[in-house]
Amino acid sequence: MHTIGILGGMSWESTAIYYQHLNRMVRQAHGGLHSAPVIIDSVNFAQMAVWQRAGDWHSAGEFLAQKAQCLQAAGCQAIGIATNTMHKVYDTIQSQIDIPVIHIADAVCDEASQRGISRVLFLGTQFSMSDDFLRQRYAHRNIDWQVPNAQDRELVHQMIFERLCQGEVRDADRVALLDIIERCVEGCVARGAQAPQAVVLGCTELVMLLGEDTPCVLPVLDSTRIHAQALAAFILIEP
Ligand code: GLU
Repeated sequence: MHTIGILGGMSWESTAIYYQHLNRMVRQAHGGLHSAPVIIDSVNFAQMAVWQRAGDWHSAGEFLAQKAQCLQAAGCQAIGIATNTMHKVYDTIQSQIDIPVIHIADAVCDEASQRGISRVLFLGTQFSMSDDFLRQRYAHRNIDWQVPNAQDRELVHQMIFERLCQGEVRDADRVALLDIIERCVEGCVARGAQAPQAVVLGCTELVMLLGEDTPCVLPVLDSTRIHAQALAAFILIEP
């Protein structure tokens, strides 16, 4: 099997979910005691959040690129950045190592396309929803996305940073998130616009609130599960 390196800890709540997925997926493929060859570099998210708030993506990118170099030196054959938001510095990281960084958006778009989905509602951090780095990646893969209105974007961002990344899962947030999704769909219908065909949980912690099997007006695409699946597929490629 191939060894995967994970840039994790952003937050560790979702890195733990990646770790479980990877091991379960490898066990499912090979059975018995088989588990995933994975090296996780779990960073201190508080420092990352300071750089994010300051807009200092250069420091964050250089820091993560250095971590990726260590993972490569340790024998990893591909890297996964276990957060949507930090794909903002994907190019910085990829340009400083020789092994592939498996992009979370590519994995999500591949699955969406396979399922005949070309329009999604994207939920994530303000950085992911309001910036263009992920939207463009989706567009290149022919997936159109829309995001909630400004007020709802702020709500989702708060849920992520003030609660989910700190391990707090509230029923009220689940209800609010489902309500945001419903209102987005209703808004499209009212405007006569084409409604999204699925909702992307475009933040790796959102699955703590809403699973792919939670009843919802739209099919749910969980970027954590889908990215982990792409990473597991790499682990499982025959050498
Ligand atoms: N894990 C989150 C994401 O997928 C948010 C934390 C971060 O800003 O990295 O975007």
